[in-house]
Amino acid sequence: MCAEWQKVLRLSDWRVRVRYATHDKELDCQGWFDAEPRKRQAIIKLQPFKFNSVCRDPLEMTLVHELVHIHLLPLAPDNRPEHTDVALEQAVDALAYALFTTKYPNWKDAYVRP
Ligand SMILES: [Zn+2]
Repeated sequence: MCAEWQKVLRLSDWRVRVRYATHDKELDCQGWFDAEPRKRQAIIKLQPFKFNSVCRDPLEMTLVHELVHIHLLPLAPDNRPEHTDVALEQAVDALAYALFTTKYPNWKDAYVRP
């Protein structure tokens, strides 16, 4: 699944490892990533146990979200102003949603919350 989205996002030259949290306390939301742009390596951690009113997107959309973050890393330096975090998350969310919905136009109809 990750390799497929990497191809769509033109990130095939990145080594992206995906890990799943093993319990609900491991991550406080559905996804997390860390990347080393110079090495073109990233790790994405997905939290399959968090599914509530805050985190209700399909896990695959969370994967896309984290992959989009990789593209925007150069635009998000560590010393960025705090308000840009919100703008960045909104942009990443919008792009991930658009990409996911393009692939799965009826996902909301088919998706059953656990
Ligand atoms: Zn994010």
